[in-house]
Amino acid sequence: MTKEDVKRYLKPIADGLFGRQRRPTYERPHFKIRDLNQMLEDLVQIQPEEWFRYAFSREPINGKFTDAQRIDWTRKAILCGKEYARKTAEKYGTRNSIRIAEKMGMNITYPDFPDKTDRVMFAQYTEPNNIKIFMDAVRKADRLMQDPKTAAILTEKLNIPKTLLAHELFHNIEEENKDTIFTRTEKFRLWSVGKVHNDSSIIALSEIAAMAYSQELNQLPYSTYVLDMFLVYGYSPEEASGLYEEMMEDAGRKPDGGEAVPAETMEKRIRQEKEQT
Ligand SMILES: [Zn+2]
Repeated sequence: MTKEDVKRYLKPIADGLFGRQRRPTYERPHFKIRDLNQMLEDLVQIQPEEWFRYAFSREPINGKFTDAQRIDWTRKAILCGKEYARKTAEKYGTRNSIRIAEKMGMNITYPDFPDKTDRVMFAQYTEPNNIKIFMDAVRKADRLMQDPKTAAILTEKLNIPKTLLAHELFHNIEEENKDTIFTRTEKFRLWSVGKVHNDSSIIALSEIAAMAYSQELNQLPYSTYVLDMFLVYGYSPEEASGLYEEMMEDAGRKPDGGEAVPAETMEKRIRQEKEQT
């Protein structure tokens, strides 16, 4: 995968950025480019439970649910993720996800980009024990964090590779506990004829729990869903601005924190970015 591919796949951002979800109808026009720090200031205030609509908007069978179900499931998935994070920290005596991954016997690699994919991803878990952290996105985000204001909003707790890694570790934990873990045992009955049922698992639950797991393990004061927008910003401030609007609306908030960035400032930033790469 090349840089051009990444840019192409970013438009539209059809998927959740940690890989698994798909929102087929996601297609948007141009967005007003917003100031990164103002967007972050708004997004870090959204409480973990308030992400339920955004989280479920990536769920393939979302149309079958009510908001009451989504909220109930979200709460349970957050508890599940947090509980496993505490168990992990206790079991391995550390919250450092790199050390935990080593002790779990994970094989972690750090390629620049995904090999082949039809969507942008920042990290990926594949059974039985492989995790990839895609470093081009990490470097772009690290560069953005050189702005002291950005770093202050995201706090010194944020280490992007460790946060991405913790999320993927949860998917491994799910695999190892698939008969008992809430995110896998909880099913939705699609249909039922006599004794024949078709039960579906709910992918959004895995994602919500993985986000909560990573937040808890890394002791972040905000939901790791914020990183969806932040990591996209490194590639496309415009797409990130669109994602921000969607996140705010899904959380029942007005996306008015961010003023439009003057065009010259934006061009300057893009030029600097090009010079650095
Ligand atoms: Zn995930």
